Amino acid sequence: MALIELRDVNVDFKQKKHVIHAVRNVSLKIERGDIYGIIGYSGAGKSTLARVINRLQKPTSGKVSVNHQEITHLSGKKLRDERKNIGIVFQQFNLMQTKTIAQNVAYPLIFKPNDQKRKEVDRLLKLVGLEDKRSVYPKQLSGGQMQRVAIARALANHPQILISDEATSALDPKTTQSILKLLKKLNQTLNLTIVLITHEMDAIKSICNKVAVMDDGKVVENDSLLNVFTHPKTNLSRSFVDESIHLKSSFQKVADWPALKDKNILELRYVGDKTSKPIIIDLYQKYQIASSILFGNIEFIQNVPVGHLVIELPADQASLSKIKDYLSHRGISFNQIDLDQEAV
Ligand code: ADP
Repeated sequence: MALIELRDVNVDFKQKKHVIHAVRNVSLKIERGDIYGIIGYSGAGKSTLARVINRLQKPTSGKVSVNHQEITHLSGKKLRDERKNIGIVFQQFNLMQTKTIAQNVAYPLIFKPNDQKRKEVDRLLKLVGLEDKRSVYPKQLSGGQMQRVAIARALANHPQILISDEATSALDPKTTQSILKLLKKLNQTLNLTIVLITHEMDAIKSICNKVAVMDDGKVVENDSLLNVFTHPKTNLSRSFVDESIHLKSSFQKVADWPALKDKNILELRYVGDKTSKPIIIDLYQKYQIASSILFGNIEFIQNVPVGHLVIELPADQASLSKIKDYLSHRGISFNQIDLDQEAV
């Protein structure tokens, strides 16, 4: 049995004159050790689904099991105990402004003796790289540091599961990457199962191994990250993939490009705009390094015996500058060159 199982879950919110079907017939299995992305536009039902998983929200119908135990109808102490197994962090860090960082992190440990509390706070702050911020107040921290405090607090009861509900949405790209890197590290060192709720495929692509795409309360596709990227089954999945860096050429067409075969270059094109100039990134690195830098956890493409990676970019300037940021934070330099030079 999977660590988290949802079966035919529905959540309805009754309004005065109508009913909102926030989650419709969702069935999902999240295995221990997964970093499971749930992506969808605003209003798709992602947060409601997250609340169902940690039973802040009781489903209208269907079943929710965590760690072999059905939690759908739990209440009182049993529910509180079960919830300790699931930490959650939000976009708004929800820190207590008048308390120090140590006091914020210690909040869930309220019934522990002081010496244990202190030890545990030290462990948690070390885990998120904020050992030196024990005595400062939230307003003295950056957004990324505040999110680290929220993550430390969420891990106070040694949960097996962490839900990140748009935890990086208020952060700049560089800080987002550092938080995602932290989540990946926690996943690996603590065997923490992570449910990453987001509207950004970039975040999913950086660390997730599986993805569910949500639309209007339904999960319209759930599969491995590779399958969603290479064979998206719905238009919505395709648009999320297109919004992000498009990798299909690197998987399927690379063998058709003998002229580029021995070069260590990364070529970026604008999707749907054949007249625009491509951007060529000189990586001066092997394909494996390039792909793992760009694509975080996708080890399987390391076996592709080529020296380059072709990626299509979305045409709009906003996405382009985001991707440029993304690349430069990884130390990848790139130059925009003329189409003619492509043939060299
Ligand atoms: P997302 O996280 O994907 O943005 P939500 O799960 O927050 O989506 O919301 C899904 C739908 O359910 C939206 O139409 C939202 O307005 C509605 N909704 C969420 N929570 C409530 C609530 N407590 N009462 C009424 N409607 C709600």
